[in-house]
Amino acid sequence: MDIIKVMDDTLSNKIAAGEVVERPASIVKELVENAIDADSTVIEIALEEAGLMTIRVTDNGKGMSRKDAVQAFERHATSKIMNEHDLFRIRTLGFRGEALASIASVSKITMWTSNGETDGTEVHIDGGRLTKHDNAAFRKGTDITVSQLFFNTPARLKYMKTIQTELGQTIDLVNRLALSHPSIAFKLTHYSQLILQTSGSGDQQRVLSDIYGIAVARKMVPFSGANADYTVQGYITLPEMTRASKSYMTLIVNGRWVKSHAVNHVIINALHTYLPIGRFPIAIVNVEGDPFLTDVNVHPSKQQIRMSKEGELLTLLKESIQKAIRKSIIVPDAIKKE
Ligand code: ADP
Ligand code: MG
Repeated sequence: MDIIKVMDDTLSNKIAAGEVVERPASIVKELVENAIDADSTVIEIALEEAGLMTIRVTDNGKGMSRKDAVQAFERHATSKIMNEHDLFRIRTLGFRGEALASIASVSKITMWTSNGETDGTEVHIDGGRLTKHDNAAFRKGTDITVSQLFFNTPARLKYMKTIQTELGQTIDLVNRLALSHPSIAFKLTHYSQLILQTSGSGDQQRVLSDIYGIAVARKMVPFSGANADYTVQGYITLPEMTRASKSYMTLIVNGRWVKSHAVNHVIINALHTYLPIGRFPIAIVNVEGDPFLTDVNVHPSKQQIRMSKEGELLTLLKESIQKAIRKSIIVPDAIKKE
């Protein structure tokens, strides 16, 4: 007897959702990354119940045509890559064409969008099923609301932590996205209460000040350097201003916030003779290089990447930071002689 069946779309989307739609913060990440990829200059994120009740992301990006507004929710539907060749030179944050299909399968969605060519479109999707696709007056851009997250996957819902924890994760995420895109004006609210607002001036130091406060931003020391493949540039606090957690170090590679133990290690090591035990700097590292040198197709969350010539990059980073630190720290003679 033949027993193998191809899953229907609703089921396979729900399974795929398990990989990228873990919690409210992961949904905010996908929606905001879409807004960034659409060349938005203003992005607003409004949450209720830390996003479990409502996540609304409004942008002024390129928007979608009436047909694309529905097509966007199909699995493997993307405007960002067309062939294998594109996979090795990805400049957008998204490329899998899975996020909207996955999110839609575990929530209720209302979206308004317009690409400026026609009036606009309103789309409703309920647990992955299209329930409305109509004309609607809307300016250029997209406004998407995800509500009742995980209403049809109670096991996932049960797994959610407290509102405070979920909210904390999203705030942390939006902070990093704002740092990665200083030219975009971000606004994050929870039940209309303002949590973060950035100006979109393009000045990363100003975003650092919006997030960590002006006293910290003023004390951060700039560093920069380049080798044949990469340029590195960033800011780091001196040992007098540290934190008890490693989570204040941010790595941005070609505009994408990624996590790297190796880079954290280098930052800490560059300072380490001066750092009190258990204390870590606040730092931001921007790396730019040919997209051909980096592989973001390592994990569905796209938070880890593989970099060619990583050893050389780490050396460059270490030297750049040490050079800047040496200039700023008045080193006691005893340490100098070592
Ligand atoms: P991906 O980002 O990997 O392409 P998504 O499922 O996140 O996949 O989105 C599917 C498509 O929907 C995108 O490729 C893009 O064309 C369109 N899209 C989604 N969000 C927006 C937005 N905010 N503005 C314009 N287009 C969007
Ligand atoms: Mg996307």
